[in-house]
Amino acid sequence: MTETTTAQAPETVTAGATETEMSRERDGEEEEKIRRQKKLEEALEAKSLRRIMSAYLNYPEAAEEDLKKWERSYRKLSPAHKALVPHYALKFQRLRRCISTNSYFIFNMLQSFEPPIDLSQDLDGYEDSNLDFAPHEKYILDERHDSSCQPTLTNNSTHEEESKSMHDSELQKKDTNDPPPKNHSDDARNNDERYDCDGDHLNHDHGNAHDWLDPSLQTHVPLVDVDKVRCIIRNIVRDWAAEGQRERDQCYKPILDELDSLFPDRQKKSTPPSCLVPGAGLGRLALEISCLGFISQGNEFSYYMMICSSFILNYAQVLNEWTIYPWIHSNCNSLSDNDQLRPVSIPDIHPASAGITEGFSMCGGDFVEVYNESCQAGMWDAVVTCFFIDTAHNIIEYIETISKILKDGGVWINLGPLLYHFADTYGHDNEMSIELSLEDVKRVASQYGFEIEKDRTIETTYTTNPRSMMQNRYYAAFWTMRKKCAITT
Ligand code: SAH
Repeated sequence: MTETTTAQAPETVTAGATETEMSRERDGEEEEKIRRQKKLEEALEAKSLRRIMSAYLNYPEAAEEDLKKWERSYRKLSPAHKALVPHYALKFQRLRRCISTNSYFIFNMLQSFEPPIDLSQDLDGYEDSNLDFAPHEKYILDERHDSSCQPTLTNNSTHEEESKSMHDSELQKKDTNDPPPKNHSDDARNNDERYDCDGDHLNHDHGNAHDWLDPSLQTHVPLVDVDKVRCIIRNIVRDWAAEGQRERDQCYKPILDELDSLFPDRQKKSTPPSCLVPGAGLGRLALEISCLGFISQGNEFSYYMMICSSFILNYAQVLNEWTIYPWIHSNCNSLSDNDQLRPVSIPDIHPASAGITEGFSMCGGDFVEVYNESCQAGMWDAVVTCFFIDTAHNIIEYIETISKILKDGGVWINLGPLLYHFADTYGHDNEMSIELSLEDVKRVASQYGFEIEKDRTIETTYTTNPRSMMQNRYYAAFWTMRKKCAITT
């Protein structure tokens, strides 16, 4: 370095210090700043993860609260009106058992989760810091966390190794030493109505390894967080229940058929083609792509999703091992109580014996952050986005990243609407949200070297109760674009 440093010389540096010594000092300060920044980010991540764990742990209480509200309304009925719906008291009892069963599933899922970071770290000591960091709220609202790659079902794949070298996070360091998935005891399976609720609290053991599951550490969480847990339960049906098959046929099948026809000779190749699925949700699409003969990697940044997908992908032992009641949280648009209270068995396939291709992995972290690393450039034969591109603050950045990571001649298959997630963030006026029309999305894509090969509209639902009187439909864009040439920007 030749320029002189502007940082104040610490005491140990004499007035006659050479430029090299001074820049070494500056480097030291820089390193310290980066180290503190990293620690702060970890503390923020721990805070965010604690909040997500709390949301899961609060599920039974929040569901019970709703139920009590319904009971209070019922009690306000006149005796004559009550007599017209005599089965209501029984329905409440049944609902309570359903909540217990869902809670049992959630608790088992949490028990299998190994937090990738030390959850006890806090933000003390950072309040006065001048560090340049993202506001806490952003972390919490976006559920963002450090990038970290986690092998799924298999070990020792090339892609896993790449991911490892790419992100030096605790989770990866643990990868190689991770114990094999725990065996579930028999009574952990077929959880239907076996889970006991002790009043409003979860009734469970908690060993030292999972101190964070101690209810006393549970912070009170906003209702919006518990709502996310309910969303996850609906997502489980979409990805892992027989009931979700229709939706998967609408959304995942066109993508799988397209991949199948675009890579006809993949089995003959010494290395299978690689496919990345950003915003992988609960992982079913990424798994299906793996089973089709691709080295498939899902990328996901929500711990809500990651905790659940990891549980199903790595810990499910048999078909229909678990029972959940996904539709109990709303009384609206029900054709019958039996519809509302029907059990759903998961998973509808056993992931470990589904026929995955070696190298299947799930990579945690923000898509733009993780895949803008230089080692990712030109790495992928295919990128598949399903209900993902509208999650961007800046969709142009997503398109740019997809173009960058694809090989020349690689394909981008997309299915989804443009329901921009940050379009209506009331109270967060500074939240960036670029909301391009479909026409503009395609125009921007062409600037990044994409040529459209297929383009049509697919009518589909998203996490919709198939027996509900309300069926929201999307007219989703479905396209295949090919990256024609490398773009230098
Ligand atoms: N593809 C799945 C999930 C769609 S929902 C399906 O079709 O069911 C969109 C997903 O993208 C959510 O799981 C969300 O957590 C994830 N996501 C949003 N922004 C992301 C980002 N910047 N990086 C990685 N994942 C992201």
